[in-house]
Amino acid sequence: MYLKELEINGFKSFSDRIQLNLTKGINAIVGPNGSGKSNIADAIRWVIGEQSVKILRGSKMEDVIFAGSDRKKASGFAEVTLVLDNSCREIDMDFNDISITRRMYRSGESEYYINKTQCRLKDIVEMLMDTGMGKEGYSIIGQGRIDDILSNRSDGRRIIFEEAAGITKYKHRKAESEKKLEQ
Ligand code: ATP
Ligand code: MG
Repeated sequence: MYLKELEINGFKSFSDRIQLNLTKGINAIVGPNGSGKSNIADAIRWVIGEQSVKILRGSKMEDVIFAGSDRKKASGFAEVTLVLDNSCREIDMDFNDISITRRMYRSGESEYYINKTQCRLKDIVEMLMDTGMGKEGYSIIGQGRIDDILSNRSDGRRIIFEEAAGITKYKHRKAESEKKLEQ
C-alpha cells in the first residue's frame, strides 16, 4: 500500500486546490523555507484524524483553514483527500484505490468520508489500524520523533512495535468489547 495522491484545498497555506500525484518508492518535496512543505505533512496527519492542535502546529483547530492573504480572502473550510493504492489489498476492502477525505468548517465541525461516502472518524481509525498508516503509527515520522523512539520509555516503544506487528486492531477490539460488557 502506498500514498498515491493528495488533494489539498483551503488547508493552511494552500488557498487553491492542489493535487499531488505521488509514485511508489521515494518522493521528495523540496522548497524554500515557509513554502508549505511541513503543511503537506500536517495535511496528511489531519486527514487521518489528528485532533491535536499542537501536533498540527497551531493554537486552535481553525488555524488549519487558510487565513487569507493580501491578495486572497480567507477560506470558509479546509479539505484534504488522500488516496491510498490498495491493489495489494492490505486494507480488507475490495477497492484498488481508497480515498479518505476530511472537511472542516470554521464552526469547528469535521466531516469524514471513505471513498466519498460519509463516515465516522472511528471508521477511518479502525480501517487504518495495523497498516502503520494510523495517526499513532510509524508512517509519519516528524522532526524529533526519531529521538522520541530511541529514548522513549519501553511502554511507548511497545505501542510502535504492536502497530508494526499488526495486533493493535485486536487490542482495540478487546478493549471495545470489555467496555460494552461493563455497561
Ligand atoms: P521550513 O523549510 O522552514 O520548514 P516549510 O516549507 O516546512 O518551511 P511550512 O511550515 O509548511 O513551511 O509553512 C509555513 C507557512 O504556512 C507560513 O508562511 C505560514 O504563514 C503559512 N500558514 C500556516 N497556516 C496558515 C493558514 N491557516 N493560512 C495561511 N497561511 C498559513
Ligand atoms: Mg518545515
